[in-house]
Amino acid sequence: MKIGILGGGQLARMMAASGIPLGMEFVFVDPAEDACAAAYGRLLTADWAQAPTLDGLRDCDRITCDFENVPAEVLDALGEVAPVRPGPDAFAAAQDRLTEKRLFQRLDIPVPPFAEVSSRADLLAAIDTIGLPAVLKTRRFGYDGKGQAVLRSREDLEPAWRDLGGHDLILEGWINFHHECAITAVRGSDGAIVCYPLSWTVHDGGILRLALAPAPVAREMESRARELVERLLSELEYIGCLTLELFATDQGLVANEFAPRVHNSAHWTIDGSITSQFENHLRAVCNLPLGDTTMRGQALMLNWIGQMPSMAEFLGIAGLRWHDYGKRARPGRKVGHATLVAEDRSGIEAGVAAIVDQVDAQTASLLKGEMMPLG
Ligand code: AMP
Repeated sequence: MKIGILGGGQLARMMAASGIPLGMEFVFVDPAEDACAAAYGRLLTADWAQAPTLDGLRDCDRITCDFENVPAEVLDALGEVAPVRPGPDAFAAAQDRLTEKRLFQRLDIPVPPFAEVSSRADLLAAIDTIGLPAVLKTRRFGYDGKGQAVLRSREDLEPAWRDLGGHDLILEGWINFHHECAITAVRGSDGAIVCYPLSWTVHDGGILRLALAPAPVAREMESRARELVERLLSELEYIGCLTLELFATDQGLVANEFAPRVHNSAHWTIDGSITSQFENHLRAVCNLPLGDTTMRGQALMLNWIGQMPSMAEFLGIAGLRWHDYGKRARPGRKVGHATLVAEDRSGIEAGVAAIVDQVDAQTASLLKGEMMPLG
């Protein structure tokens, strides 16, 4: 099987690393000449929009994405070349926060209060209805907290409007969550669905920093998350891996967004599960039976942001696995991650105690802080 992947970042790289043992070959389309997936296959340096015309994709058996902002029209056109999975509909829904929230509402998946904002008058009216604090977000092309402004008081309105005013926007009510979590599930072409245990996630500045699995939550919350993600997968007749990001509140789970692809909050599945999210995504895309999602104990993943720390300081920590994406250092960029795998919570805590001595103060405080249920 030859798989074409639109996007050649770390998600494509980890997909390929999991598909090569299954005998798969990979072609990546990415505008960046130094796209890090290139170590695992052939890189076609081009814009996504050019993808349907690229001869290098003609002999692919399947096409998938490592990036959710590939225009749905491009995926539609690529359908002439090979089956594109997941299909354009899921991308169209995920690419626009307004369409996404309306889809959640239609499926009875709880969402924060929200309103479409196309003008300053809309924004004032939305604030009157929704109240403050609230978050003003661009409807499209936002990721890792980019294209967002938190409005705590009316004084925040002018700077936020100056920054975001030219875009199509959505205002969302602020959710006072206890913590965030994410559920990753995979649906095969025969409609079979497998779920990974819920991840407890910690963000900082809009960027995912930590993920702990299984999330230490009540069984009802875990089964509710599964029910919600299964509803979404079935509605979209989805094929592949999808992650639903959720806020845990007094009123239950509230959906934030979904990603129609493999996801950072489930990177721990490489080392912590029998079958990783990456392999299961490829299995679904290629009509192969889905793999066992059972965990090997418990797992904690932490992202390396900006630059890789010195690996020698970490490799001696029991149960720790290292993932360097081979990317150039740049502030705010996800350049790698480490996963700690242990039989039980005390093993994770012992690993964390060793990690906090090696990481920067900010990461240490996230690991020991009130958002992380360890210790
Ligand atoms: P997003 O890009 O929408 O996933 O937002 C990035 C992060 O910002 C989330 O993981 C939350 O930590 C925070 N955030 C986004 N929307 C809200 C909201 N309506 N209420 C509270 N926090 C939010």
